[in-house]
Amino acid sequence: MATTSISVDTDFEVVIGLEVHAQLLTKSKMFCGCSTGYANEAANTHVCPTCMGMPGVLPVINQEAVTYTIMTALALNCSIPAYSKFDRKNYPYPDLMKGYQISQYDVPLSHDGYLTIDLHGQLRHIGITRVHLEEDTARLTHRQGYSLIDVNRAGTPLMEIVSEPDMRSPEEARFYMQKLREILVYLGVSSGRMEEGSLRCDANISVRPRGQQKLGVKSEIKNMNSFRSVERALEYEAQRQIEVLRSGGVIQQETRGWVENRGITVSQRSKEQAHDYRYFPEPDLPPLVLSRERIEEIRRMLPELPDARRTRYKSEYGLAEQDANVMTEDKALGDYFERVMAASQGSERKARAKAASNWILSEVVRLLNAHSIAVQDCPLSPAALANLLDLLDKERITGKQGKEIADEAFTSGEMPEAIVERKGIKPPISDLSTLEHIIEEVIAKNTKAVNDYRAGKTNALQALVGQVMKQTRGQAKADMVQTLLRKKLDETQPA
Ligand SMILES: [Zn+2]
Repeated sequence: MATTSISVDTDFEVVIGLEVHAQLLTKSKMFCGCSTGYANEAANTHVCPTCMGMPGVLPVINQEAVTYTIMTALALNCSIPAYSKFDRKNYPYPDLMKGYQISQYDVPLSHDGYLTIDLHGQLRHIGITRVHLEEDTARLTHRQGYSLIDVNRAGTPLMEIVSEPDMRSPEEARFYMQKLREILVYLGVSSGRMEEGSLRCDANISVRPRGQQKLGVKSEIKNMNSFRSVERALEYEAQRQIEVLRSGGVIQQETRGWVENRGITVSQRSKEQAHDYRYFPEPDLPPLVLSRERIEEIRRMLPELPDARRTRYKSEYGLAEQDANVMTEDKALGDYFERVMAASQGSERKARAKAASNWILSEVVRLLNAHSIAVQDCPLSPAALANLLDLLDKERITGKQGKEIADEAFTSGEMPEAIVERKGIKPPISDLSTLEHIIEEVIAKNTKAVNDYRAGKTNALQALVGQVMKQTRGQAKADMVQTLLRKKLDETQPA
């Protein structure tokens, strides 16, 4: 299998559409009062007659799930019809408690939106066919000769987001998934965790000769549980289809599963075996009627979305493109940055934002990684980082000391100024005459380094700076020492 990207194939064009399922972060299930907080609970403990699919029970619509779905639809620029309904999707499978799933068929909660992605500087609008609401199934675990069922998951609100076949490369599909995940996390409607299965992706992919309008025969790929798997599976599948066509073969419409450890897709089900779902309107639920007022009310509930935050970080705080991107990709990191800024009253905004961003993206991220801690749980509080930045602004400590204090505050949870006080750290030597005196001594004692510097060996300057820093016990500011040292060396240059 070729390892190069197929998106540059000159003969064939790849066409991809994605169906994404996201479990919604509601407290209770879609049609009953059972808690959705079953992640660390014993199997089959979050169940009731409704989500067990007992005869005679009646479902009740979870309003919060409807709200979350409309929030998502609005964020994806979809139209929301005034009327929508639920339908029964019938198929026999052991994970389906009732023998059918309550879903939405011909009148979904929303339709015809788009998601904008930035593909290496090129803005691409990916059409959103629909965002609808349904319920999750039970979880099956297959063992040798038998299967185990856990009904805790059954009935969890599940939102389905279907895209148009607008993507033209596996990489573009990954970008779409990542952007969609960002939006869901910003909205607070989904945890966005693919590895835990709370966000899942099925892909429809076909290839066609470049220039041809008619779509090729597609296959549907399942079982991809990371962004990387999505891209790898689609790379593999596109290449497979191209090879079939090149060798004169015919693509079969089928469902294929991605086998992560083998890096291949395998056939699971052909079109002949496709289910006839016999959809019909769910008789136990009333139609969903949404007033314009309610939809506008939900629109006002939308938080700032990633693109808007990214733009604001550049305009309001003057952050560089790359920093603004990294800071907003992870909502929690951006939230931390915002709290540092909120705790930085009285500082010059843009200068403080730049410093805060530098410290967060280097030191704070490094410490979090080293201790395997999520930024939400960062022991160096935003107030503590703001305090550290104040100490640096006032030149109460040097940058080097700042890093040591950040390390210590990260472990102890102390405020940086309390650490400075407790350890009796003296203010940096910024008084010129003291520093100049030390520099003259260092120049006098290090003739070899001085001569090397004068002979054009720029490294020698660093050695001299090191000597001065040593003499001052790290109490001097390195950049100031360097400037003074260079000035002194130039002044005393023999004619
Ligand atoms: Zn239940």
